[in-house]
Amino acid sequence: MNDILSQTENIIKGLHQDSMMLELEEKYRCIEGKKGDDEQEEEEDEEEIEGEVERVFSNHYVDMGKIDTVGFDYDYTLVTYTSQLLELIYSMALQRLVQNLQYPPSMLHPDSNMTFDPHFSIRGLAVDRETGWICHLSYTHKVAVAFEGRKRVSRERLEGEYRGKRSLRPSERRQRLKPLNDLFSMAECCLIADVIQFFTDHNIPFCPRNAVVDILSAIGDTHVSGDFHRLVASDPAKYFEPRPHLEGVLRGLSSGGKRLILVSNSPFWYVDAGMRHVIGNDWKDVWEAVIVSAGKPRFYTDDARPFRLVDEDTGQISFEKITRLEPGKVYAEGCLKELTKCINWTHSPPPSPPQLDYITTTTNNSALPTTQTTELSSPMSLTSSNVLYIGDSLFADLVDAKRDFGWTTAAVVPEVSSEITLQRRGEFTNSQHIIDLLLDTLRRIQIEMGNGVRTPDDIRVMDGLERMVSLWREEQNALLGNPFGSIFRAQYQPSLFAHSLRRYCDLYMSNVSDLRHYSPQHRFYPDDARLLSHETEKVDSECWDFDEII
Ligand SMILES: [Mg+2]
Repeated sequence: MNDILSQTENIIKGLHQDSMMLELEEKYRCIEGKKGDDEQEEEEDEEEIEGEVERVFSNHYVDMGKIDTVGFDYDYTLVTYTSQLLELIYSMALQRLVQNLQYPPSMLHPDSNMTFDPHFSIRGLAVDRETGWICHLSYTHKVAVAFEGRKRVSRERLEGEYRGKRSLRPSERRQRLKPLNDLFSMAECCLIADVIQFFTDHNIPFCPRNAVVDILSAIGDTHVSGDFHRLVASDPAKYFEPRPHLEGVLRGLSSGGKRLILVSNSPFWYVDAGMRHVIGNDWKDVWEAVIVSAGKPRFYTDDARPFRLVDEDTGQISFEKITRLEPGKVYAEGCLKELTKCINWTHSPPPSPPQLDYITTTTNNSALPTTQTTELSSPMSLTSSNVLYIGDSLFADLVDAKRDFGWTTAAVVPEVSSEITLQRRGEFTNSQHIIDLLLDTLRRIQIEMGNGVRTPDDIRVMDGLERMVSLWREEQNALLGNPFGSIFRAQYQPSLFAHSLRRYCDLYMSNVSDLRHYSPQHRFYPDDARLLSHETEKVDSECWDFDEII
């Protein structure tokens, strides 16, 4: 039986090598300049991948024609950052640990190698406060993969820590696991792992819970103090990525009849610096309301937090009572309940089709349409599916908006484009073919084995093939370039991040700029909303409703 398994493994390895050779030969032909059908096919493939990564994906039916208000988050939504920002946050927090909390000064020495590693962390992880482990959770809340420092935790230790089933009770989960969901938290995650690795390597006794509290507070302080904001604002070209299509997207939505609101947790001067950099000095013209220092998710849940007017020159906030938000002005704090009172919006009929070409972009900011004024009849209730909110942080931006107010939600998930691009690479597709082949073999030999009791040889064949599947899957994971694998898969099951994305977000996209490919009246039909095995295999009809968003 071992011979059969090792022969099978050799055949599969041979197939993989042959397919890699074919791919290399194809590349060689292209390099040699043998332009022809193959090269044209490659160009078409590239266009197809571009179309795929610049797509807006839908989990539910969404009729953009019914959307009358579009809200945007700022950080990692309207503006995106170069990896230098995460390096900056990491190093600032590390300095705080050493200077304010007496962590070993040698942590700052170049030999310690303590710098942000963009290839370690991914989004959607959680830190276990008890152990300091960085955990990747599946959709059933099981810890599928964990790292203690930079070392992977063995399956035996995982099962020991999480009572065999690798799942915690909901109350334990809330107490122990701190989600690291937004893009800023990549620095947090890496710093926790590196500090714990440093303590372990240097035999320094430590309490994981204290270390996690210290690190989270050091990272939090870099945000609250405004230290990194000041550095970023002073050198925007270094930290903000260019956003050539952003203005066109905002103008297209506005000319398509949507009212735009900006709700950011960042202070005004920081939002202003970024928006001036990516759009221009007149960036405020397109917005019906600009709200800063909003404190999301508290912004959604608080019901008595008034808005405060921000002086755009001095940054001072005024003491006067705000009863109405005016376009062109900037407001701080507030809450959703106040917003419903302070904005003179009424439910309007579906907007008429746009008069301007949606895709056209312009650098002439004066061409931005002026904001509409609407007579106040009754305050618009923002408990409405006609509001679309777009943000990158599932829990700060989108969960409350969806769960408590029924807003239509869209998540910005840049990992979609990077993972799709990778999954189209030859190495990845070849290993996927082999995995499919092995899984198909497993299903077929099980039919051959019948429904009787399995012999020890039967079990060895099944175990051996399953092991091969796991090894090929690990090979695929390695291609993703980080130790946790896909953000959408925890080990090989859907991740908690993917599950939350599915549950709380109607739409998702790699980049807000992807919206430029769609009409402001576009109707998004989900590709497939079937959940159960028998439906995906046997039932052809799709299962989503046109009225899902209501
Ligand atoms: Mg954000």
